[in-house]
Amino acid sequence: MSETILNGVLAEFEKLAAIPRPSKHEEQVSNYLKRFFETRGLAVVQDGLKNIIAEVPASPGKEDAPLTILQAHMDMVCVAEDGYAFEPTKDPIKLIRGEKFLEAEGTSLGADDGIGVAEILYLVDNRQSFKHGRLRIIFTTDEESGMSGAMGLDQKFLSDAAYLINCDSERFGEIVAGSAGNVHMTLWRELHYVRPDTKLYTNMRIKIGGLRGGHSGEEINGGRINAIKVAVNIMRQITHRGKIRLASLRGGRAVNVIPSEAEMVIATDIDAELVNEICAKIERQLRRIYAATDPNIKIEAQVVRRPEKVLHAKDYDFLANLITMIHSGVYLMEPDNPAQVLASANLGVVSMNDELVELKILPRANADVLVEEFIEGFDRAARLCTFESKYSAPLPAWTFKPESKLLKLAEEVFTEQNGYAPAVETVHMGLETSLFIKKNHALDVISIGTTNENIHSPNERLHLDTVEPHVKFIVGMLERIAETTA
Ligand SMILES: [Zn+2]
Repeated sequence: MSETILNGVLAEFEKLAAIPRPSKHEEQVSNYLKRFFETRGLAVVQDGLKNIIAEVPASPGKEDAPLTILQAHMDMVCVAEDGYAFEPTKDPIKLIRGEKFLEAEGTSLGADDGIGVAEILYLVDNRQSFKHGRLRIIFTTDEESGMSGAMGLDQKFLSDAAYLINCDSERFGEIVAGSAGNVHMTLWRELHYVRPDTKLYTNMRIKIGGLRGGHSGEEINGGRINAIKVAVNIMRQITHRGKIRLASLRGGRAVNVIPSEAEMVIATDIDAELVNEICAKIERQLRRIYAATDPNIKIEAQVVRRPEKVLHAKDYDFLANLITMIHSGVYLMEPDNPAQVLASANLGVVSMNDELVELKILPRANADVLVEEFIEGFDRAARLCTFESKYSAPLPAWTFKPESKLLKLAEEVFTEQNGYAPAVETVHMGLETSLFIKKNHALDVISIGTTNENIHSPNERLHLDTVEPHVKFIVGMLERIAETTA
């Protein structure tokens, strides 16, 4: 029995892995999924965003049970090991099945979220073996790169459903019942440069590195140092001793990653030795504070040639002041669960060129009103410092609902099947589920999954022993829902 489920799901997964499906290149996989339902005589819609929506009729006699949506996303993050030849839009994922794990050769595996899709396809083909009400299958596009599929999904596919089971979580034994909203903010300002004063005789490049960085949602309470904040701290300390002018500053890679490195070139009227002392002192202090979580910070200062131009004093002040004012890190913990982050922000990127300086910030909160508070606060700080600001349409938060019937039912089924209670979690990152709830506030939602490690990396692997119990968990819930009426 168990081998049958596992092999059945993996057979579906293998077919998906053969189809290149990075985000924004889903046409082929979307067509494949459309044909899957067509060949089985099931009604299916492929919308303009390549989302797939299919209808599965109820088992005989279960037509009055509440309509349940099973949902997963069809795109994947394609990354390869250094030096591994891989063209994400053309090459298949090569699977390696071991005893305990399924991995890919040289690349990410795409179990996020291919395994969710494969399980649902397997369930559709085996729907005669269990009793279920009406089911709707929704496979979205572009989850990993903006969620445009879920965002643009027609409301009518959600408005008549009672329950939605999202199969995109990464740990078996955990039920996700809430997620964070966020907003992408960009603050920018024109720059004016001048020739450096000859009294600024010390010119140095200062590099901050050796930091752990990490995902700005999952790791924001992990005690990580923000390299951009360290850069500004160094500037401030130099200001206490003398004058400073900034020739360049850059740091961070992406708005959703805690910046692990930053670099600046400065001109100052204090000795290079003193700059070195300041850097060493800050490095020592930070090593002490973050000994347990981010102990390898390295600040290196090196004398360089006099830069041809530096920022005008006012521009420097406004930039340094704004970075100082921008909160980066945990902002609030859940009052009733001190282990859970409620609101945070990440100053992820600073970049500048001859004309402009730009800061990218990603505030998150598990309550919409706190995201709004961040927008307001950063916007005002920007104005005070004569910066402009713009932001994306906020992703809404999925607020935890303790009265959720689906959650209660899921906890009961899981406990009966596995002999232990699942952990119920809210996550401090964005999920597609919040967009579905925005389109139907009455929709009762949970997010579950198999155990997938190191997602979005070439080390991604699926714990094979979690596939069968996860499929049985979904079946158990569907059977239980079929016993009720809408
Ligand atoms: Zn995913």
